[in-house]
Amino acid sequence: MIDLFTFDSTIPRIVFGVGSLSKVSEELGRLGRSRALVLSTPHQENDARALATALGPRAVGAFSGAVMHTPVDVTAAALARFNGSGADCIVSLGGGSTIGLGKAIALRNNAPQLVVATTYAGSEVTPILGQTENGIKTTIRTSSVLPKTVIYDPELTFGLPVPMSVTSGLNAMAHAIEGLYAQDRNPIASLMGMEGLAALRRALPTIVRSPRDPLARADALYGSGLCGVVLGAVGMSLHHKLCHTLGGTFDLPHAETHAILLPHTVSYTEQAVPELLAPVARLFGSPRASTGLHDFTLSIGAPMRLRDLGVTADDLDRATALALSNPYWSPRPLEAGGIRSLLQNAWEGVRPS
Ligand code: NAD
Repeated sequence: MIDLFTFDSTIPRIVFGVGSLSKVSEELGRLGRSRALVLSTPHQENDARALATALGPRAVGAFSGAVMHTPVDVTAAALARFNGSGADCIVSLGGGSTIGLGKAIALRNNAPQLVVATTYAGSEVTPILGQTENGIKTTIRTSSVLPKTVIYDPELTFGLPVPMSVTSGLNAMAHAIEGLYAQDRNPIASLMGMEGLAALRRALPTIVRSPRDPLARADALYGSGLCGVVLGAVGMSLHHKLCHTLGGTFDLPHAETHAILLPHTVSYTEQAVPELLAPVARLFGSPRASTGLHDFTLSIGAPMRLRDLGVTADDLDRATALALSNPYWSPRPLEAGGIRSLLQNAWEGVRPS
Protein backbone atom coordinates (compact mmCIF):
# COMPACT_ATOMS: atom_id res chain seq x y z
CA MET A 1 0.00 0.00 0.00
CA ILE A 2 1.28 3.48 -0.87
CA ASP A 3 1.51 5.59 2.29
CA LEU A 4 1.32 9.36 2.61
CA PHE A 5 4.33 10.96 0.88
CA THR A 6 5.75 14.16 -0.57
CA PHE A 7 7.88 14.33 -3.71
CA ASP A 8 9.39 17.76 -4.18
CA SER A 9 11.84 18.05 -7.04
CA THR A 10 12.36 20.12 -10.16
CA ILE A 11 14.21 18.41 -12.99
CA PRO A 12 16.00 20.42 -15.70
CA ARG A 13 14.97 20.05 -19.34
CA ILE A 14 16.84 16.95 -20.60
CA VAL A 15 18.08 16.37 -24.13
CA PHE A 16 19.46 12.85 -24.49
CA GLY A 17 21.15 10.88 -27.26
CA VAL A 18 24.21 10.30 -29.42
CA GLY A 19 24.96 13.50 -31.32
CA SER A 20 22.97 15.73 -28.96
CA LEU A 21 26.05 17.91 -28.39
CA SER A 22 25.05 19.55 -31.68
CA LYS A 23 21.88 20.81 -29.96
CA VAL A 24 23.68 23.21 -27.60
CA SER A 25 23.16 26.23 -29.84
CA GLU A 26 19.47 25.49 -30.38
CA GLU A 27 18.99 24.93 -26.65
CA LEU A 28 20.66 28.25 -25.81
CA GLY A 29 18.22 29.90 -28.21
CA ARG A 30 15.39 28.22 -26.35
CA LEU A 31 16.68 29.82 -23.15
CA GLY A 32 16.74 33.18 -24.93
CA ARG A 33 20.53 33.47 -24.47
CA SER A 34 23.16 34.25 -27.06
CA ARG A 35 26.54 34.80 -25.34
CA ALA A 36 27.71 31.66 -23.52
CA LEU A 37 30.89 31.25 -21.49
CA VAL A 38 31.92 27.59 -21.86
CA LEU A 39 33.45 26.07 -18.70
CA SER A 40 35.66 23.00 -18.29
CA THR A 41 38.58 21.59 -16.33
CA PRO A 42 42.10 22.00 -17.80
CA HIS A 43 41.83 18.36 -18.92
CA GLN A 44 38.82 19.09 -21.14
CA GLU A 45 40.07 22.47 -22.39
CA ASN A 46 40.29 21.35 -26.04
CA ASP A 47 36.71 20.08 -25.98
CA ALA A 48 35.51 23.34 -24.39
CA ARG A 49 37.33 25.44 -26.99
CA ALA A 50 35.95 23.29 -29.80
CA LEU A 51 32.44 23.74 -28.45
CA ALA A 52 32.91 27.52 -28.14
CA THR A 53 34.16 27.62 -31.74
CA ALA A 54 31.23 25.51 -32.94
CA LEU A 55 28.82 27.87 -31.18
CA GLY A 56 30.25 30.81 -33.18
CA PRO A 57 28.63 34.09 -32.13
CA ARG A 58 26.59 32.32 -29.43
CA ALA A 59 29.80 31.88 -27.34
CA VAL A 60 32.14 34.47 -25.85
CA GLY A 61 34.93 31.93 -25.22
CA ALA A 62 36.03 29.25 -22.77
CA PHE A 63 37.25 29.26 -19.17
CA SER A 64 39.06 26.01 -18.38
CA GLY A 65 40.13 26.46 -14.78
CA ALA A 66 37.52 24.29 -13.01
CA VAL A 67 38.97 22.06 -10.27
CA MET A 68 37.60 19.62 -7.69
CA HIS A 69 35.63 20.99 -4.69
CA THR A 70 34.86 24.41 -6.23
CA PRO A 71 37.36 26.69 -4.43
CA VAL A 72 36.00 30.23 -4.14
CA ASP A 73 39.12 31.83 -5.67
CA VAL A 74 38.57 29.89 -8.93
CA THR A 75 34.93 31.03 -8.87
CA ALA A 76 36.09 34.65 -8.48
CA ALA A 77 38.41 34.31 -11.51
CA ALA A 78 35.64 32.71 -13.61
CA LEU A 79 33.14 35.36 -12.56
CA ALA A 80 35.58 38.12 -13.58
CA ARG A 81 35.93 36.43 -16.97
CA PHE A 82 32.12 36.11 -17.25
CA ASN A 83 31.61 39.80 -16.51
CA GLY A 84 34.53 40.98 -18.65
CA SER A 85 33.35 39.04 -21.70
CA GLY A 86 29.75 40.20 -21.56
CA ALA A 87 28.49 36.63 -21.22
CA ASP A 88 24.79 36.08 -20.51
CA CYS A 89 24.79 32.34 -19.70
CA ILE A 90 26.98 29.38 -18.80
CA VAL A 91 27.66 26.17 -20.67
CA SER A 92 29.37 23.64 -18.36
CA LEU A 93 31.07 20.83 -20.25
CA GLY A 94 32.27 18.11 -17.89
CA GLY A 95 31.67 16.36 -14.59
CA GLY A 96 30.94 17.46 -11.05
CA SER A 97 33.92 19.83 -10.81
CA THR A 98 32.98 21.87 -13.88
CA ILE A 99 29.27 21.78 -13.05
CA GLY A 100 30.14 22.98 -9.53
CA LEU A 101 31.92 26.02 -10.98
CA GLY A 102 28.91 26.83 -13.18
CA LYS A 103 26.60 26.56 -10.17
CA ALA A 104 28.90 28.79 -8.09
CA ILE A 105 28.74 31.49 -10.80
CA ALA A 106 24.94 31.13 -11.04
CA LEU A 107 24.64 31.49 -7.27
CA ARG A 108 26.32 34.88 -7.52
CA ASN A 109 24.69 36.29 -10.68
CA ASN A 110 21.66 34.11 -11.52
CA ALA A 111 23.08 33.23 -14.95
CA PRO A 112 21.19 30.32 -16.55
CA GLN A 113 23.25 27.14 -16.94
CA LEU A 114 23.21 24.59 -19.71
CA VAL A 115 25.19 21.47 -18.74
CA VAL A 116 26.77 18.94 -21.07
CA ALA A 117 27.38 16.11 -18.57
CA THR A 118 30.39 13.83 -19.20
CA THR A 119 30.66 11.78 -15.98
CA TYR A 120 28.16 9.89 -13.83
CA ALA A 121 28.36 12.09 -10.69
CA GLY A 122 24.82 13.46 -11.17
CA SER A 123 25.42 17.07 -10.13
CA GLU A 124 23.76 18.36 -13.34
CA VAL A 125 20.28 17.56 -11.99
CA THR A 126 20.68 18.66 -8.36
CA PRO A 127 20.07 22.00 -6.64
CA ILE A 128 23.17 21.30 -4.50
CA LEU A 129 26.50 23.12 -4.49
CA GLY A 130 29.62 22.30 -2.44
CA GLN A 131 32.21 25.09 -2.22
CA THR A 132 35.60 25.30 -0.52
CA GLU A 133 36.99 28.33 1.29
CA ASN A 134 40.11 28.26 3.49
CA GLY A 135 40.15 24.47 3.18
CA ILE A 136 36.59 24.06 4.50
CA LYS A 137 33.92 22.65 2.22
CA THR A 138 30.34 23.73 2.83
CA THR A 139 27.28 22.50 1.00
CA ILE A 140 24.19 24.52 0.20
CA ARG A 141 20.91 23.53 -1.38
CA THR A 142 19.07 26.19 -3.37
CA SER A 143 17.00 26.15 -6.53
CA SER A 144 19.05 29.07 -7.87
CA VAL A 145 21.94 26.70 -8.73
CA LEU A 146 19.82 24.12 -10.56
CA PRO A 147 20.78 24.05 -14.27
CA LYS A 148 18.04 24.89 -16.78
CA THR A 149 19.00 22.36 -19.45
CA VAL A 150 21.07 19.16 -19.44
CA ILE A 151 22.48 17.53 -22.55
CA TYR A 152 23.54 13.88 -22.30
CA ASP A 153 25.54 12.78 -25.33
CA PRO A 154 26.88 9.26 -24.74
CA GLU A 155 29.57 9.81 -27.39
CA LEU A 156 31.30 12.30 -25.06
CA THR A 157 31.80 9.52 -22.50
CA PHE A 158 33.48 7.01 -24.84
CA GLY A 159 36.84 8.36 -23.68
CA LEU A 160 36.00 8.48 -19.96
CA PRO A 161 38.74 6.15 -18.66
CA VAL A 162 37.43 2.79 -17.43
CA PRO A 163 38.60 3.23 -13.79
CA MET A 164 36.84 6.61 -13.67
CA SER A 165 33.73 5.19 -15.34
CA VAL A 166 33.60 2.47 -12.67
CA THR A 167 34.05 4.75 -9.66
CA SER A 168 31.82 7.49 -11.07
CA GLY A 169 29.11 4.89 -11.81
CA LEU A 170 29.33 3.61 -8.22
CA ASN A 171 29.12 7.20 -6.98
CA ALA A 172 25.82 7.45 -8.88
CA MET A 173 24.59 4.14 -7.47
CA ALA A 174 25.27 5.44 -3.95
CA HIS A 175 22.79 8.31 -4.52
CA ALA A 176 20.02 5.89 -5.49
CA ILE A 177 20.75 3.42 -2.70
CA GLU A 178 20.72 6.06 0.04
CA GLY A 179 17.47 7.35 -1.47
CA LEU A 180 15.81 3.99 -0.72
CA TYR A 181 16.20 4.41 3.04
CA ALA A 182 16.15 8.23 3.25
CA GLN A 183 14.03 9.77 5.99
CA ASP A 184 11.97 11.50 3.28
CA ARG A 185 12.03 8.51 0.90
CA ASN A 186 9.06 8.24 -1.38
CA PRO A 187 7.85 5.87 -4.11
CA ILE A 188 8.69 8.24 -6.98
CA ALA A 189 12.31 8.76 -5.95
CA SER A 190 12.67 5.02 -5.21
CA LEU A 191 11.25 4.13 -8.63
CA MET A 192 13.77 6.40 -10.34
CA GLY A 193 16.55 5.08 -8.11
CA MET A 194 15.87 1.43 -8.89
CA GLU A 195 15.61 2.18 -12.62
CA GLY A 196 18.93 4.05 -12.42
CA LEU A 197 20.58 1.22 -10.48
CA ALA A 198 19.38 -1.38 -12.97
CA ALA A 199 20.74 0.65 -15.91
CA LEU A 200 24.14 1.07 -14.25
CA ARG A 201 24.22 -2.57 -13.20
CA ARG A 202 23.72 -3.52 -16.88
CA ALA A 203 26.11 -0.92 -18.25
CA LEU A 204 29.25 -0.98 -16.09
CA PRO A 205 30.42 -4.56 -16.78
CA THR A 206 30.04 -3.92 -20.53
CA ILE A 207 31.92 -0.60 -20.29
CA VAL A 208 34.80 -2.38 -18.51
CA ARG A 209 35.08 -4.84 -21.42
CA SER A 210 34.21 -2.45 -24.20
CA PRO A 211 34.53 1.25 -23.22
CA ARG A 212 33.16 2.55 -26.53
CA ASP A 213 29.97 0.47 -26.51
CA PRO A 214 27.30 3.08 -27.37
CA LEU A 215 24.40 1.21 -25.74
CA ALA A 216 26.26 0.69 -22.46
CA ARG A 217 27.44 4.31 -22.43
CA ALA A 218 23.87 5.48 -23.04
CA ASP A 219 22.56 3.18 -20.28
CA ALA A 220 25.15 4.51 -17.84
CA LEU A 221 24.34 8.17 -18.55
CA TYR A 222 20.60 7.48 -18.35
CA GLY A 223 21.06 5.60 -15.06
CA SER A 224 23.35 8.19 -13.53
CA GLY A 225 20.95 11.00 -14.44
CA LEU A 226 18.15 9.19 -12.61
CA CYS A 227 20.37 8.55 -9.60
CA GLY A 228 21.29 12.25 -9.60
CA VAL A 229 17.61 13.20 -9.46
CA VAL A 230 17.30 11.03 -6.32
CA LEU A 231 20.29 12.85 -4.77
CA GLY A 232 18.54 16.16 -5.39
CA ALA A 233 15.12 14.98 -4.24
CA VAL A 234 15.69 13.27 -0.86
CA GLY A 235 18.16 13.51 2.03
CA MET A 236 21.30 11.38 2.12
CA SER A 237 22.68 9.75 5.28
CA LEU A 238 25.61 7.67 6.59
CA HIS A 239 27.25 6.86 3.27
CA HIS A 240 27.38 10.41 1.88
CA LYS A 241 28.25 11.98 5.25
CA LEU A 242 31.09 9.52 5.80
CA CYS A 243 32.48 10.09 2.29
CA HIS A 244 32.27 13.85 2.81
CA THR A 245 33.99 13.73 6.23
CA LEU A 246 36.73 11.29 5.25
CA GLY A 247 37.26 12.98 1.88
CA GLY A 248 37.72 16.38 3.50
CA THR A 249 39.86 15.24 6.45
CA PHE A 250 42.18 12.83 4.64
CA ASP A 251 42.05 14.53 1.22
CA LEU A 252 40.67 11.45 -0.54
CA PRO A 253 39.49 11.31 -4.17
CA HIS A 254 35.71 11.75 -4.37
CA ALA A 255 34.45 8.91 -6.57
CA GLU A 256 36.97 6.29 -5.33
CA THR A 257 35.95 6.96 -1.71
CA HIS A 258 32.30 6.40 -2.63
CA ALA A 259 33.17 3.18 -4.47
CA ILE A 260 35.17 1.70 -1.58
CA LEU A 261 32.77 2.60 1.21
CA LEU A 262 29.47 1.71 -0.46
CA PRO A 263 29.23 -2.05 0.35
CA HIS A 264 30.26 -1.32 3.95
CA THR A 265 27.92 1.60 4.66
CA VAL A 266 25.12 -0.47 3.11
CA SER A 267 26.08 -3.41 5.34
CA TYR A 268 25.86 -1.17 8.43
CA THR A 269 22.46 0.23 7.46
CA GLU A 270 21.01 -3.00 6.07
CA GLN A 271 20.96 -4.55 9.52
CA ALA A 272 18.30 -2.03 10.56
CA VAL A 273 16.23 -1.87 7.34
CA PRO A 274 16.78 -5.08 5.32
CA GLU A 275 13.34 -4.74 3.72
CA LEU A 276 14.21 -1.35 2.20
CA LEU A 277 17.37 -2.76 0.64
CA ALA A 278 15.82 -6.06 -0.52
CA PRO A 279 15.28 -4.72 -4.10
CA VAL A 280 19.04 -4.03 -4.31
CA ALA A 281 19.85 -7.54 -3.06
CA ARG A 282 17.52 -8.94 -5.74
CA LEU A 283 19.07 -6.75 -8.45
CA PHE A 284 22.52 -8.14 -7.65
CA GLY A 285 21.26 -11.72 -7.14
CA SER A 286 22.58 -11.94 -3.60
CA PRO A 287 20.92 -12.67 -0.24
CA ARG A 288 21.99 -9.20 0.94
CA ALA A 289 22.48 -5.86 -0.79
CA SER A 290 25.89 -5.35 0.84
CA THR A 291 27.36 -8.66 -0.34
CA GLY A 292 25.79 -8.20 -3.77
CA LEU A 293 27.42 -4.77 -4.04
CA HIS A 294 30.76 -6.08 -2.81
CA ASP A 295 30.81 -8.87 -5.39
CA PHE A 296 29.70 -6.47 -8.14
CA THR A 297 32.32 -3.82 -7.33
CA LEU A 298 35.03 -6.51 -7.20
CA SER A 299 33.91 -7.94 -10.56
CA ILE A 300 34.20 -4.58 -12.34
CA GLY A 301 37.66 -3.84 -10.95
CA ALA A 302 36.68 -1.04 -8.56
CA PRO A 303 39.14 0.04 -5.86
CA MET A 304 38.31 -1.99 -2.74
CA ARG A 305 40.54 -0.79 0.12
CA LEU A 306 40.75 2.52 1.98
CA ARG A 307 44.39 1.69 2.75
CA ASP A 308 45.16 2.03 -0.97
CA LEU A 309 44.04 5.69 -0.81
CA GLY A 310 46.70 6.43 1.82
CA VAL A 311 44.51 6.08 4.93
CA THR A 312 46.60 4.43 7.70
CA ALA A 313 45.43 1.96 10.36
CA ASP A 314 46.09 4.69 12.94
CA ASP A 315 43.66 7.02 11.14
CA LEU A 316 40.66 4.76 11.73
CA ASP A 317 39.98 5.75 15.36
CA ARG A 318 40.10 9.42 14.38
CA ALA A 319 37.83 8.76 11.39
CA THR A 320 35.34 7.02 13.70
CA ALA A 321 35.35 9.98 16.11
CA LEU A 322 34.84 12.40 13.19
CA ALA A 323 31.97 10.34 11.83
CA LEU A 324 30.24 10.51 15.22
CA SER A 325 31.06 14.16 15.97
CA ASN A 326 28.38 15.62 13.74
CA PRO A 327 25.21 13.57 14.28
CA TYR A 328 22.58 13.25 11.57
CA TRP A 329 19.61 11.05 10.84
CA SER A 330 20.36 7.43 9.97
CA PRO A 331 17.96 4.47 9.83
CA ARG A 332 20.43 2.65 12.09
CA PRO A 333 21.59 4.91 14.91
CA LEU A 334 25.29 5.70 14.73
CA GLU A 335 27.35 3.83 17.30
CA ALA A 336 31.12 3.82 17.70
CA GLY A 337 31.74 0.05 17.59
CA GLY A 338 29.73 -0.46 14.40
CA ILE A 339 31.28 2.52 12.61
CA ARG A 340 34.79 1.45 13.67
CA SER A 341 34.30 -2.05 12.28
CA LEU A 342 32.69 -0.67 9.08
CA LEU A 343 35.84 1.44 8.56
CA GLN A 344 38.14 -1.49 9.39
CA ASN A 345 36.38 -3.64 6.79
CA ALA A 346 36.58 -0.87 4.19
CA TRP A 347 40.25 -0.32 5.03
CA GLU A 348 40.99 -4.02 4.47
CA GLY A 349 38.54 -4.41 1.58
CA VAL A 350 36.95 -7.56 3.02
CA ARG A 351 33.52 -8.86 2.03
CA PRO A 352 30.93 -7.51 4.50
CA SER A 353 29.76 -10.27 6.81
P1 NAD B 1 35.39 15.65 -12.14
O1 NAD B 1 34.39 16.55 -12.69
O2 NAD B 1 36.37 16.20 -11.14
O3 NAD B 1 36.19 14.99 -13.34
C1 NAD B 1 37.39 14.23 -13.09
C2 NAD B 1 38.34 14.37 -14.29
O4 NAD B 1 37.80 13.68 -15.39
C3 NAD B 1 38.53 15.82 -14.74
O5 NAD B 1 39.88 16.01 -15.12
C4 NAD B 1 37.62 15.90 -15.96
O6 NAD B 1 38.02 16.88 -16.88
C5 NAD B 1 37.77 14.51 -16.52
N1 NAD B 1 36.63 14.09 -17.35
C6 NAD B 1 35.32 14.33 -17.12
N2 NAD B 1 34.58 13.77 -18.06
C7 NAD B 1 35.43 13.17 -18.93
C8 NAD B 1 35.24 12.41 -20.12
N3 NAD B 1 34.03 12.11 -20.57
N4 NAD B 1 36.33 11.95 -20.76
C9 NAD B 1 37.57 12.19 -20.26
N5 NAD B 1 37.81 12.89 -19.14
C10 NAD B 1 36.74 13.37 -18.48
O7 NAD B 1 34.76 14.34 -11.47
P2 NAD B 1 33.29 14.05 -10.91
O8 NAD B 1 33.44 12.81 -10.11
O9 NAD B 1 32.31 14.12 -11.99
O10 NAD B 1 32.99 15.27 -9.94
C11 NAD B 1 33.49 15.32 -8.61
C12 NAD B 1 33.09 16.62 -7.95
O11 NAD B 1 31.69 16.81 -8.12
C13 NAD B 1 33.34 16.65 -6.46
O12 NAD B 1 33.81 17.92 -6.09
C14 NAD B 1 31.97 16.38 -5.85
O13 NAD B 1 31.84 16.91 -4.56
C15 NAD B 1 31.07 17.06 -6.85
N6 NAD B 1 29.70 16.51 -6.91
C16 NAD B 1 28.68 17.38 -6.67
C17 NAD B 1 27.36 16.92 -6.71
C18 NAD B 1 26.24 17.89 -6.46
O14 NAD B 1 25.07 17.52 -6.59
N7 NAD B 1 26.52 19.12 -6.09
C19 NAD B 1 27.08 15.59 -7.03
C20 NAD B 1 28.15 14.73 -7.28
C21 NAD B 1 29.47 15.20 -7.23
